Amino acid sequence: MAPPAPQLPTVDERLESADDGTIKLRMRTHDGHPIEAVLMVFARGGGGPDDTRTLPPRYTACLSSQSGCALACTFCATGAMRLRRSLTSAEIVAQLTELATLCPTRIDNVVMMGMGEPFHNYDAVLEALRELADPRGFAIAARRMTISTVGWVPGIERFARDDFPARLALSLHAPSDGVRAQLMPVNRRFPIDRLMAACADYCDTTGRSIFIEYLLLDGVNDSRAHAHELVELLAQHDGERARFHVNLIAYNPAGTPYVGSSVATVHAFRDTLREHGLETSYRVSRGRDVAAACGQLASQDVSRDLAHRRGERVGRLEERAQRPVDRD
Ligand code: SF4
Repeated sequence: MAPPAPQLPTVDERLESADDGTIKLRMRTHDGHPIEAVLMVFARGGGGPDDTRTLPPRYTACLSSQSGCALACTFCATGAMRLRRSLTSAEIVAQLTELATLCPTRIDNVVMMGMGEPFHNYDAVLEALRELADPRGFAIAARRMTISTVGWVPGIERFARDDFPARLALSLHAPSDGVRAQLMPVNRRFPIDRLMAACADYCDTTGRSIFIEYLLLDGVNDSRAHAHELVELLAQHDGERARFHVNLIAYNPAGTPYVGSSVATVHAFRDTLREHGLETSYRVSRGRDVAAACGQLASQDVSRDLAHRRGERVGRLEERAQRPVDRD
């Protein structure tokens, strides 16, 4: 007898950015857990200053590996949801299938940067990526897929020995344990020294470099001193081959106390890294008008749900105590 067909997530809501064409899907698993999938459009110019051609845009799909996340990074809307559950490989592939129906051409790149820590769901994520690479299906090259980890060391060590050659991105976001632990509780379990040793091992074993993701937060991790610390940290672990490419990221406000750094601060930070020979790019947040930061849309849904339940609870307390209740 054939195995039962997997139960796939459905689309609750589709939002399209008027600013940059980003499409965000709020989806729901068959058992009611929210997830998100995002399609980003990147316009491309010609090959140089004298080349006025306009090349076709590139499309990147950003997929979720989990509903919610257990790692509770303090700047992240998904972290505030906590973990609902990990997704199956079919649920991950289904996100791309939905996005593909909205994409005018083929999807060029896949990034596992949506909700969840991909290495907390290693087997399903790798199974999904292998399926997306299948030449009989979407045929997306492995080198055009990126797994983004918050620094889950056992996952990095395992991925270094996996035969699937997707790219690796590390959400570092701070050059020292003090600042990083404040932003990312996972740093208490895997401090920077241990994390960077795993990254160096990954580079040595695979011959591939790592994208270092660095979210710039006003007054938290964005000073020139932080930039110099980052230069030193990466230099300590740099090898013969180019190992690190730094992506500076503008913070997409996500209902947290953090504020993104000013453009002048971002440029100063970038220039310091470049002056020291670090390959650095600056990624402007996409889809701000459709709440495109990781987990923002789904967590709004969860917040509404929680607010509703909290309201009900407060109502019951008020009934019982016959006096105002100002906290739950
Ligand atoms: S940033 Fe990533 S790892 Fe951290 S809480 Fe959000 S989804 Fe989880």
